[in-house]
Amino acid sequence: MQIKSKFLIAGAIIALIALTSMQGYLTFNTFDLRKKSFAVDSRTKIGDIVKTKYVDSLSWHYRMDFVDKIPDYKRNRISKEELLADLKFFANDRNDEFTEYFNKEAERLGLNENILFKKVASSIQLIDENGNVENLLIEDKDSPIFLIGTDFLLEEGLLINAWNWTFDKGFINDNHQLESVTVKYRASIYMKIVDWDKIIFKQLLFLFLIAFLLFLFVISLVTYSIRNLFKHKRISDIKTDFINNITHELKTPLSTLSIATKTLTNRFAKDNTDIAKESIDTINRQNKRLQNLIDQVVDNSLGYNDINLNLEQVSLPDFINEVCDDFALTLPTNIQFLRDVEVNDTEVEIDKFFLGTAIINILNNAIKFDGTVLKIKYNITNNMHTIAVSDNGIGISKKNKKLIFDKFYRVSEKNMHTYKGLGLGLYYCSQIVKAHHGLIDVESKVKEGSTFYIKIPVENGKENFIS
Ligand code: ADP
Repeated sequence: MQIKSKFLIAGAIIALIALTSMQGYLTFNTFDLRKKSFAVDSRTKIGDIVKTKYVDSLSWHYRMDFVDKIPDYKRNRISKEELLADLKFFANDRNDEFTEYFNKEAERLGLNENILFKKVASSIQLIDENGNVENLLIEDKDSPIFLIGTDFLLEEGLLINAWNWTFDKGFINDNHQLESVTVKYRASIYMKIVDWDKIIFKQLLFLFLIAFLLFLFVISLVTYSIRNLFKHKRISDIKTDFINNITHELKTPLSTLSIATKTLTNRFAKDNTDIAKESIDTINRQNKRLQNLIDQVVDNSLGYNDINLNLEQVSLPDFINEVCDDFALTLPTNIQFLRDVEVNDTEVEIDKFFLGTAIINILNNAIKFDGTVLKIKYNITNNMHTIAVSDNGIGISKKNKKLIFDKFYRVSEKNMHTYKGLGLGLYYCSQIVKAHHGLIDVESKVKEGSTFYIKIPVENGKENFIS
């Protein structure tokens, strides 16, 4: 069972990790796909905006203004830098007009407002009549000239498209001759998606939320199931322990009974009244022992609701002293029993029989679990009558402290037969204390000893202190 549940838990954890990784992978993929499809969609919309007659004619105009300046350059009236600056100026001069158009169209087509557009001149060549090529602007070497749109860094943008345009320009050179020059011009368009991840994240927020909640749900489900498995295993272990214990307890009286009955049935015993009497005494004793065992199981299994208290006003210091006097009479000589009972005149409503049983149970446990020095202390602290029973016995580990008040719980299987018991004593004590609206608790250190506390409210019965 133990190996099986270990495998089950390991399997559940591995499945959970696999599921989480898969979910993470799928979520990441969905995010990536959405990002790409958003870019494609935006690109198409930008294409629809800029591939129009209006933008063509706008571009045509600044390009022609630029071409008209080429003769000045050829005739050395202006430098290359001035010529290129002119191109930039002619285009930029129309940018406001373009931006207004772009924004209007973007709104019409539902293009996200975080998408920026930019058009640049990336390469310009002048080829003379003899085929000599002069590079005014070299692609990927010189920085492109910003024409229209928003001037963002090209590294932050995505290239959408590029066009080549060729034009022959004739002019009269300094020698008064007609000369022709071919202009080869290349323009590229880019887009930039500002806060791209944020936009997609916002779009997928609902999906992420559902995925996260599902993940939480599965984690809680697995944790709950594992906890339940442990709980059931613990209960099943406790029950097995109990059955083993009770069987062990029953064995001795039963075998003694069997021997006694055999002796009685023996013809020799029938004639011998002494032997017969001895056997009958043994039978009676074992019968009583069996009866006690059964009573112990039945009575000690009672829940606090089933305990019928016969309440009476009692002075607790006097009552504790009475219980201790009786207990001290039964003590072996090797046990030291100390008392520190604070006297007061507060009376409290208790059932003497039940509360006495609880205190004696705890004192008996102190001896059973190897205590040689026992101390009982009583005082009123924080408006509670506090009875503390300490011992220097084997102590209880932190893990077990929480469990020892559970029905049938016993600490170690190994020690089961060293320390006899059914695991009902402390459960019974806790139910008795609960029935008195009190609290029971323990402080302990392994190998050093334990202190059990019974606390009964001073105003007993009027307030409910059940934990
Ligand atoms: P039982 O004594 O029959 O085992 P109890 O309900 O009285 O059952 O106690 C439950 C468990 O708590 C015990 O098996 C023991 O391990 C632990 N325990 C109780 N009292 C002490 C004590 N004084 N010192 C150490 N362990 C104790």
